[in-house]
Amino acid sequence: MLLENFHPRSKLVTKTTLVPRPKYPVIDAHNHLGEPFGGGWDAKPLPALLDLLDEANVTHYVDLDGGWGEDILNAHLEHFKGHAPERFRIFGGVDWNQWPELGNRFPEWAAQRLKAQKERGAEGLKIWKPLGLHVRDQLDKVVKVDDPRLDPIWQAAGELRLPVLVHVADPVAFFDPIDGTNERWEELGQHPDWAFTSPPFPPFLEILTGFKNLVTRHPATTFIGAHAGCYGENLGWVGQMLEECPNYFIDISARLGELGRQPYSARRFFLQYQDRILFGSDLGPDLEAYRLYYRFLESDDEYFNYNTGEIPQQGRWHVCGLSLPDDVLKKVYYNNSAKLFGIPTLSSQ
Ligand SMILES: [Zn+2]
Repeated sequence: MLLENFHPRSKLVTKTTLVPRPKYPVIDAHNHLGEPFGGGWDAKPLPALLDLLDEANVTHYVDLDGGWGEDILNAHLEHFKGHAPERFRIFGGVDWNQWPELGNRFPEWAAQRLKAQKERGAEGLKIWKPLGLHVRDQLDKVVKVDDPRLDPIWQAAGELRLPVLVHVADPVAFFDPIDGTNERWEELGQHPDWAFTSPPFPPFLEILTGFKNLVTRHPATTFIGAHAGCYGENLGWVGQMLEECPNYFIDISARLGELGRQPYSARRFFLQYQDRILFGSDLGPDLEAYRLYYRFLESDDEYFNYNTGEIPQQGRWHVCGLSLPDDVLKKVYYNNSAKLFGIPTLSSQ
C-alpha cells in the first residue's frame, strides 16, 4: 500500500459538540464573495446569501473581493451593499500591475485610487500575498513589503480611516524545500504554484519582518494581519508584534488547523490578546465551515478534523477546541470588529 492510500480513522471515543449557532452574533472580518474564494456569490441571488448568513448568525460580512479596478468594486457594492447596506463591508485593493508603466508616480497614483475607492463606498483595503513575492517595480525588481516608496499608500489608508487587511507570505513550510520532511508536502503536491521555496523567493522571516517594520512605521494606520497574523505556527512571534504595535490586529481565518494543533498555546494567546483578535473564516459563506469554527472556539472537544472534507487539507493532523470564556467569545466574534468598523458593540451583559 502506498502512503497516500493510508487514511487512518481515529478510534478515540470522545464527545462531539454540535454548535449550530454561535453564542453571540458574528462579524466575519475575513471572507470572500467572488470567484475563486467566495463561491461566486456576486452572480447569485442575494436573498439566498442573507438566509445562509442568518442561519449562521453572521450579522456582518467583510467581502475582500472588491478588486483593484472600478468594475468589480462597483459590481460588489451594488449587488451586496446596495441591497443590504448594513450586512456588508467591501474592501478595495491596489493595482500593482500599473507600477512598471507609472514608475515613480505609482505610489501617489495608488494612494489617489484609494481615495476614489473610498468615495465609491469601499470600507477597507485588502493587500494580497503577491506583495513581497511577485510585485515588481519599473526596474523589474521584487518590491519588499516595507519598501518606503509605498508609504503614501499606507498613509492615505490611515487618513481615510480604511483598515488595511494584509496577507503576506504563507505557511512557513511553503518556503522550505519540498521533500519528505515538509509538513505540507501533500498540499504542495496538489498546488505546486503555492511553493515559494527560498531561494529564489525571499526567506519567510524576511517578509514577516518587513511587514512588522511597515506596521511599526505607520502607527496612525490600522492593520489586520490575515490568517493569525500570517504566522500561526509561531504565536510567540505574533504576540510580540501585537505587544509592539497597538495599531495591529489579527484575524483567525483559515488557520483553525494551526491554532487547534497547539490548543494550550492558542488558548493562552486568545486570553492574552482577546481585544486584538477578529473572527474570520476565509471559506466563503459556508454553513458547515462556520459551525466548525464555532465548535473550535466554544467546545473542549478533542482531536477532530479541522476541515469539512474527509482529509484535512493543510496537513494530516487533528485539532482540539479552545473552550473560550463567554467574555472572550463576545469580543472575538463581534466586539473587536465592531469597534474597527464603526458598528455598535454588544453590551457587556
Ligand atoms: Zn482570504
